[in-house]
Amino acid sequence: MTKIAYIGVGSNLGNKINNCLEAVVRIDEISGCRVTAQSDFYRTQPVGVKGQDWYVNGVIVLSADISARDLLKGLLAIEVDMGRERKKKWDSRIIDLDILLFGEEVISEKGLQVPHPLMHLRRFVLAPMVSLAPDLVHPVLKKSMAELLVDSPEKEQSVVPMGGA
Ligand code: ADP
Ligand code: MG
Repeated sequence: MTKIAYIGVGSNLGNKINNCLEAVVRIDEISGCRVTAQSDFYRTQPVGVKGQDWYVNGVIVLSADISARDLLKGLLAIEVDMGRERKKKWDSRIIDLDILLFGEEVISEKGLQVPHPLMHLRRFVLAPMVSLAPDLVHPVLKKSMAELLVDSPEKEQSVVPMGGA
């Protein structure tokens, strides 16, 4: 059955906006996936780490005829292909692709958790989510994206739409 998936896209190394745009093209090329919408990109302050450069973040919407596991495989392959090196957690990265939501599926497996366990805490995810689907309800927390944004911590984090970039 076709699922609607939401993917978080982020970059804070190199030509950040181009990296994100290239990732969107490549995601659309994953067999069984079609990009149906995308948010603006946002210029965001790093959270949880000090001394890192600012990020570009956005969210894309996918129509997916493959499993969440196969989608994750496709996303990780794109990250590797685009030259991402995995050093320590939350290191600077050319590209980061996260499955935020996969239909209403709730998955808790080794290496795959959906909804993404931090999405409801991250304003750099919630702001673009609200622009795309304010009334969409988080399948575990049972709150809409708009409600989650209002409730979210880190209000001081700067998350600014980049406009026609
Ligand atoms: P983060 O995105 O939290 O900064 P990484 O991108 O380095 O960290 O973590 C990638 C790992 O997280 C992947 O190898 C993947 O197995 C795991 N993972 C678990 N749940 C998800 C998800 N919903 N989307 C993407 N990766 C996930
Ligand atoms: Mg990731």
